[in-house]
Amino acid sequence: MEQCLFCGIVAGKVPSKKVYEDSHPIAFLDINPRNPGHALVIPKKHYTTLLDMPEKESGTLFESVRRVAAMVSSGTKSHGLSVVQSNGQAAGQVVQHVHFHVIPRFLNDTSAGLEGILPTKRMDEASMDKIAEAIKSASHHHASQKEEHYERPEKPKKPKDEIDFNF
Ligand code: AMP
Ligand code: ZN
Repeated sequence: MEQCLFCGIVAGKVPSKKVYEDSHPIAFLDINPRNPGHALVIPKKHYTTLLDMPEKESGTLFESVRRVAAMVSSGTKSHGLSVVQSNGQAAGQVVQHVHFHVIPRFLNDTSAGLEGILPTKRMDEASMDKIAEAIKSASHHHASQKEEHYERPEKPKKPKDEIDFNF
């Protein structure tokens, strides 16, 4: 993708502070770090979101995330580590090239975990069952859509408007 900022970093046309590179992914420092050592791990090939990637390539990407996480952790002597990955506008994705944030965490950090992303929601058991069923019947179908050499018969999907939440 010609206009993509991170493709520009992969091509060496946009400067970056690279901390890791192999034949598939690279990692470099986030220009606006949430903590010192905040790194981004990206595939060299352009995909917009995680769900646009073939399963195999996302597996390779996550192996590198694991590797970079270990490097960031020992390089910064962090107490903990957050791995964050946002897909789509609703999730706050700003750069349209799939990336994992690897953020070193310290015990005095404000907002330690998921409460920094969204507050918890109350759901009754029937709603939990309903959403679990919707996810179970969709998951394999969706995964197989992205896998070229893998075919699975299509399962009937519940229409979206059948899913309602009682928050
Ligand atoms: P997201 O909100 O998950 O799309 O995160 C995009 C991240 O990319 C942000 O944390 C930005 O600070 C970071 N970023 C934007 N431009 C650059 C750049 N040129 N080099 C390194 N990181 C960048
Ligand atoms: Zn790109």
